[in-house]
Order: sequence, then structure tokens, then C-alpha cells
Amino acid sequence: MKKIMAVSIFLLLAAFLNTAYAADQNLLNVSDNYTSELNDSVLGLALAGQPSGDLTASERDGLLYMAEEEKLAGDVYQSLNEKWNLRVFDNIGKAERTHEAAVKTLLTRYSLPDPTKGAGEFSNETLQVLYDDLVSRGSASTKDALQVGAAIEEIDILDLVERMDQTDKADILLVYANLKRGSENHLRAFVNNLQRQGVEYRPEYLSSEKYDRIIRG
Ligand code: MN
Ligand code: MN
Repeated sequence: MKKIMAVSIFLLLAAFLNTAYAADQNLLNVSDNYTSELNDSVLGLALAGQPSGDLTASERDGLLYMAEEEKLAGDVYQSLNEKWNLRVFDNIGKAERTHEAAVKTLLTRYSLPDPTKGAGEFSNETLQVLYDDLVSRGSASTKDALQVGAAIEEIDILDLVERMDQTDKADILLVYANLKRGSENHLRAFVNNLQRQGVEYRPEYLSSEKYDRIIRG
């Protein structure tokens, strides 16, 4: 009996430590600091040792929303790359596909339906309106396009922070924390590209304190 209890306590502790470790594990490919592709096979390994469980309504809504929001970033960058042929959109656009895939890994894990539709099409109406607006803004000039990129990353950071506050699940936090780190890298990339064109970017959504902290890295 004593032995069983000791083993149970050990397993509980191991599960706890494993969870605590996993939440801040780095899943991003850092060879190019800005691109920030999320390594799905490393994510798979990290999740293999994690318990899943039941989602709250806000956790479920968060995953469905974030899958489409990462796709929105990828779709906008793909569209702006076709228009302007800028390497930053090609590189970061590809990274967004890995972010979308990471959220979809969680959708599968929790048996949620995939909400994503074709390129430029969204189940969520707010994201559809946002997509249409951003592509139209970004089509005016390359500077506008880069500013749209920075705005998308700001929005993504804020939405991820909001969704992180709504969950204590280590697997979801692991993915969101990595997506947020990726977005911070992307924001720096767009701001640097603007600077090279003589434009000083001003944050549209983030507070200037949070923005400055991110830009300083
Ligand atoms: Mn992303
Ligand atoms: Mn991004």
C-alpha cells in the first residue's frame, strides 16, 4: 500500500514537472531569427508526454479562432507577396503555415473540427472582414504592405496573450507561447524592413511600453 502511494506521488510529481518544463520549451527553428517556423515533429514529441482532457468553451473558441488567425496571416502575406514580390512576405508567410499547422495539431488532439476554408476565406466573420481590409490596405504600396504586416503581428500578439489568460493547459500554453515568440520576431522583421525604407513604424494596437519592449528584444 505504502509502495503504491509512493509510486503515485512520484508519477504525479513527474507529470507536474514534465508539464512545467514543456510550457516554455522552444519549438521555433531559430536558424533565421525572424522566420520562426514552428517544428511540428518537436511539438508532437512534446505533446506525447502531456495529458489532454476536456476543454472549456473559451479554450475551444480560442483554438478555433487562433487556427484561422494564423491562417489569416499566411493568406495575407501570400497575397501581398504575389502583389509586391518581397522576400519578407515569402519567408514569414511560410512560417505562418507552420503556426497554423501547430494549432491544427491541437484541434486534432482535442477532436475539434477544422474551421479553415480556402485561401482568403474564413469561417469567422470578424476575421473575414479583417482579411479583406488588410489585403486592400496592403495593396496600395510596399510601405502600406509592410505596415499591414506589422499590424497583423501586433493583433496576433494581443490575441495570443488574451487566449493564454484563458487557459492553464500546458499543451495549449506551449503552442501559444511559441506562436507569440514567433510574432514578436515577425514584428521586428517588418519594423526593420520599414526602417530601411525610411519609415518609423508606430504601433497601432500594442501599448507603446509593450511595443518598445518587443522591439528592443
Ligand atoms: Mn504566426
Ligand atoms: Mn507572424
